[in-house]
Amino acid sequence: MPTRRAGSETPDDPFLFADESDDSQLGNVRGSTAPPWRVLITDDDEEVHRATAFALRGVEVDGRPLELLHAHSAIEAESVLRSVPGVAVAMLDVVMETPHAGLGLVETIRDQIGLRTLRIVLRTGQPGYAPELEVIRRYDINDYRTKSELTQTRLITTLTAAIRAYAQLESIEASNRGLADVAHSANSLFRIRSAREYARSLLERIAQMMGVTAHGVVCVEPPSTPDPIDAGLQVLHAAGRFAPLIGASLDKVGEGEMQRVVRRCLAAKTCVFDDATFAMCLGGGTRDAVAYFDVGRPITELEKRLLSLFAASLAVGFENVDLIERLDFFAFFDPLTHLPNRTRFLADVDQDLFARQGGQRCLAIADVVRFSDINDALGHRCGDTLLIAVAKRLRAAAGSGVTMARIAGDAFGLYGPEGAIDPTAIRRAFEAPFFVHGHALAVQVRLGIVRVADTKGGAVELLRNANLALNQARMAGGGAHSMFSREMSDDVQTRVSLLHSLRAAIDFRRGLSVNYQPQVNATTGELVGVEALLRWRNDYGEMVTPDRFIPLAERTGMIHELGLWVIEMALDRLAAWRRLGLDKLDLSINISPVQFRAEDFSRRVRQMIAYADVPAERLVFEITESVGLEDHDMVLGHLNELREMGVRFAVDDFGTGFSSLSQLARLPATCLKIDRSFVQSVVGDPADRAIAATIISLARNRSLGVVAEGVETEEQQQVLLDLGCEVMQGYYLARPMTVEQFDEWVKGRSAQ
Ligand code: C2E
Ligand code: CA
Ligand code: CA
Repeated sequence: MPTRRAGSETPDDPFLFADESDDSQLGNVRGSTAPPWRVLITDDDEEVHRATAFALRGVEVDGRPLELLHAHSAIEAESVLRSVPGVAVAMLDVVMETPHAGLGLVETIRDQIGLRTLRIVLRTGQPGYAPELEVIRRYDINDYRTKSELTQTRLITTLTAAIRAYAQLESIEASNRGLADVAHSANSLFRIRSAREYARSLLERIAQMMGVTAHGVVCVEPPSTPDPIDAGLQVLHAAGRFAPLIGASLDKVGEGEMQRVVRRCLAAKTCVFDDATFAMCLGGGTRDAVAYFDVGRPITELEKRLLSLFAASLAVGFENVDLIERLDFFAFFDPLTHLPNRTRFLADVDQDLFARQGGQRCLAIADVVRFSDINDALGHRCGDTLLIAVAKRLRAAAGSGVTMARIAGDAFGLYGPEGAIDPTAIRRAFEAPFFVHGHALAVQVRLGIVRVADTKGGAVELLRNANLALNQARMAGGGAHSMFSREMSDDVQTRVSLLHSLRAAIDFRRGLSVNYQPQVNATTGELVGVEALLRWRNDYGEMVTPDRFIPLAERTGMIHELGLWVIEMALDRLAAWRRLGLDKLDLSINISPVQFRAEDFSRRVRQMIAYADVPAERLVFEITESVGLEDHDMVLGHLNELREMGVRFAVDDFGTGFSSLSQLARLPATCLKIDRSFVQSVVGDPADRAIAATIISLARNRSLGVVAEGVETEEQQQVLLDLGCEVMQGYYLARPMTVEQFDEWVKGRSAQ
């Protein structure tokens, strides 16, 4: 309540103000060390300034003195308000340099300077200048008085009311800012994902709102207890003088007053206020939670209202966080062993890799040998118990600083310093049998280990490489261990991913196409044939060369499907070209030896030829010498059957497999293709020229056709012509082309 300093003049009865002070909790007397309320007096009459200062001498409002600022014009007042912060009240003369200068200033204050909490008291000497009620409302004017009305008592009363209104508005503004912060931080709290972190920022926020140091606790009901009050709350987080209570049970450590307020809060499920302390409910949904706070001074009514509002908005936030935390547990931990799961393990490893930037660390996968046998034979409960026991032994065998996780049903992930994951120590730890549900079980684990230094990339790559090492260990059998090396990744890793995308490419005909490369008789310039060459553009838009994916397709058997598809496409193309008049064109198709192992191969080819309606005689299957090595009756059966149909065979890459001459007799070949490697060096290297010459004369002796492939220069072509080879294929004539490019190429030639 307003007080007067001793020694000041008191012409009016101070009790006049007593009945106005109904909200005595708003402030309390702290003496004149408290910061002053700033009051701006604006009047063009110097006498008014002096009289006002005299009347207000020594006056305190709610324990804080007044600091008077003086301005003699609207402009001067504006500059004071723009430069001095925290002015609580402006007492303005309506009539100054102009009849409405004061009102003009009010407009400036509200609309231009934007001071909304500043209270305005208008004074005027002439009653006729009273502003309209509408203006008072619009500009949020607190009071309007004629100067004669304002006795000293009235002046103090008016000022006190205005200052209190200002204080209230300020605190609401502050709370609104606080609430906005809360709303904002509720979002960020979603990302914090920890109730403890939430509790910490909650206490900070309350302290901020109340303008005090944080002294408080946040307690939660321990998980899965039906009655929180009886089970006792646990202190999740504590600040200030309560800090030592973290982790304790509230029943055992809480002060009597704290216990009382918290219990009342839990029972009532609302905010409970005591003199200078309060508790707010945070849970209510899945788990009860209470925040208790010691403000250290009386809490005002306004603050109570704001705190209640605050609590209501926080409860939702806490429930979210609490829920997220529990979901997190299941999302990131294995419920059986309570170890982190694969996801969490990867995240932890990545985080460590990032923080450390390398270092002598390694990652290992420990795989329980033949776990599924045990599981099947003794049942899942037994298997579960065994896994828990295995986890414990692994934990004990791993050195300190090792992170452990359950990354698959029967596999554990270990990550830590290189020396701390020791295969010998782990093997020794598993020498003694496990006793599970009355069974003595001998259990071994095998290890796949990878050094961080040997792997590019993050946790996922580490895990993948550890897995490759584990596969190696698996091949060794028993409880072996294996260390990852680069070579393991290069072949297996790329092969596996290549395999997956090739499978998809074949299944969905995605990115596969056939290119055509012309074969030309260099003597006559005639286009005599075309070789179909498979192309694959993978999902990343990269061309994968046939040399990479054909061997893979052969190993996996995908070549059967793939090869038939190529034949189908190429026959379809040939039919189209024939319709365009290219009826003497031979079509060469590469056939993998593996394709001859399919029982229905020649039958399918026959069907496709019939369907495409092209003469089988125009078809040349390019096969390698190795087909002749195949002992299978089936292979020879196919070759003969196809030959009878009229299909011809060219021996591809002839000369590279030096068993050639003896094998050649077994193949129903009609043509030899001189391998690119001989053609390339036919100009410089006399030995290579000799091989080419031998092949050409061999072909001639046996009445076989001969084609030189990979002809890149005119010189090469000339040498080959001189040696007696007429048909050329290579970049010198044309690269393999798409159908459209090929048609253009043909058109271009005939135009010449
Ligand atoms: P290939 O049968 O020896 O095919 C000739 C290869 O030489 C083709 O490579 C062709 O693009 C390339 N070439 C042609 N002219 C020149 C030249 O002047 N210089 C150089 N440096 N290279 C030239 P491509 O298309 O990469 O095929 C590689 C291999 O993949 C083929 O060797 C063939 O064995 C196999 N292949 C391609 N398509 C198929 C197919 O549909 N089925 C099967 N089974 N294998 C195929
Ligand atoms: Ca070929
Ligand atoms: Ca070749």
